[in-house]
Amino acid sequence: ADAAGPIPFDNSYARLPEAFYQRVKPLAVAAPRLLRVNDALACQLRIDPRFLESPEGVAVLSGNEIASGSEPIAQAYAGHQFGDFVPQLGDGRAVLLGEVVDVAGKRFDLQLKGSGRTRFSRGGDGRAALGPVIREYIVSEAMAALGIPTTRSLAAVLTGENVMRERALPGGILTRVASSHLRVGTFQYFAARGDIENLRALADYAIARHYPEARLAEDPYRAFYDAVVAALARLSARWMLVGFIHGVLNTDNTAIGGETIDYGPCAFIDAYRPDKVFSYIDQFGRYAFANQPAAVAWNLARFGETLLPLIADGGDKAIEAANASIAGFDDHFNAAYLAGMRQKLGLARAVEGDLELASDLLNRMAENDADFTLTFRALCEAAAHAKGDVDVRGLFTDPSAFDEWAGRWRERLSLEERSAEARRTEMLSVNPMFIPRNHRIEAVIRDAEAGRFEKFHELVEVLAHPFDDQPKFADYAKPPQPEEEVRQTFC
Ligand code: AMP
Ligand code: MG
Ligand code: MG
Repeated sequence: ADAAGPIPFDNSYARLPEAFYQRVKPLAVAAPRLLRVNDALACQLRIDPRFLESPEGVAVLSGNEIASGSEPIAQAYAGHQFGDFVPQLGDGRAVLLGEVVDVAGKRFDLQLKGSGRTRFSRGGDGRAALGPVIREYIVSEAMAALGIPTTRSLAAVLTGENVMRERALPGGILTRVASSHLRVGTFQYFAARGDIENLRALADYAIARHYPEARLAEDPYRAFYDAVVAALARLSARWMLVGFIHGVLNTDNTAIGGETIDYGPCAFIDAYRPDKVFSYIDQFGRYAFANQPAAVAWNLARFGETLLPLIADGGDKAIEAANASIAGFDDHFNAAYLAGMRQKLGLARAVEGDLELASDLLNRMAENDADFTLTFRALCEAAAHAKGDVDVRGLFTDPSAFDEWAGRWRERLSLEERSAEARRTEMLSVNPMFIPRNHRIEAVIRDAEAGRFEKFHELVEVLAHPFDDQPKFADYAKPPQPEEEVRQTFC
């Protein structure tokens, strides 16, 4: 650790062999300007937010200065993109500045995204447009406030330069914080090269950083695989319980530490539809809302293949073990999903048929264009007293579709021992009022591109308290009017 500098770096990835990365400096930008610093996160990371806001801090956040103790690198990785294997991807527009250890002793990466070309840039310009920087800031912080494992956003800056996309757009740089940037694709990078020595070094590093208890198991690499399968099954259940669509669930965007990573053309569902897709690059709906658990399981199967040389005998026994591990995905997912659905519906006990009750509601929501978030939020009142039903039924094109279901739900609630008030309170703590709705994000981006940032700050602040009513900001809870609806998202 370099206690002398304003950022207490304590780097470990840069100690790994050179094959893991390129040492590369971020490229300077013309006229850096601070957009936002995440004060609470800075404090958690033992960084003084006043430093980040100072000209010296903004120089670091824009890549114009290298902070003392930083050892900037671009990480190598591979990945399956929409099913096709690409043996070399890597940080093409990101640089890992280094790692810090937070107040609780947890290690985090600090990464600049949009910081210029690297050896891994292929045809890309190494830059990020302001819009996607803003979307990632808003959505990643909203996910954190919802209690879903995710990378975070420490800061966003404007570069004072334009980037060319379909048109010229203002450029931005995000400072991303992650428990690590290890991906399924990082393992694929070494496995595809038959580089077993570095593969083992990577697995040992990942175990030490994320799953230290696996080291004590009879077969540490098998235990490691089991732990990653469980973490990502639980993570995908969380997405399904909140209406989140990642959009690009490629193996290079699947984090070993179990966090949601890489917010590109992601979106939250408004009206519930299981086949919903927003991403313009997802032509065939591979990563549609309801396909996400299967997509993550597919990525985990690819991950298991990379670990085969390390598991058991490295041969038939390894294949058998890995197959048994990945077969556990569904159990982990189903358990997490059902437990979450019970909470959302106010069910403290576990009763046979609860999953069918939840599926029945979701089917009716899909048939009746019911808003995902508002339906569950309004159910909290209905769970306390039947006069709350009026707000839920109003969300269904045919309100009687809700009434039929509500009859079954009330029968089920009669098996519960909790008071109606206790039930309502708990439901309000798991069914958010505020999610980062697309039309709001797009409006914020349009404003920001015109140099107005008030709405960005306001939206970030509202979404920091997703379970509070915040009557002053009730408009932010509303679904889009038909003319406000966003049909496609871009990265
Ligand atoms: P993503 O779709 O964001 O997961 O990115 C996939 C790959 O493309 C990664 O290797 C990125 O580093 C790279 N990439 C994305 N955008 C750019 C860009 N503007 N310049 C260089 N590389 C990029
Ligand atoms: Mg990515
Ligand atoms: Mg991306």
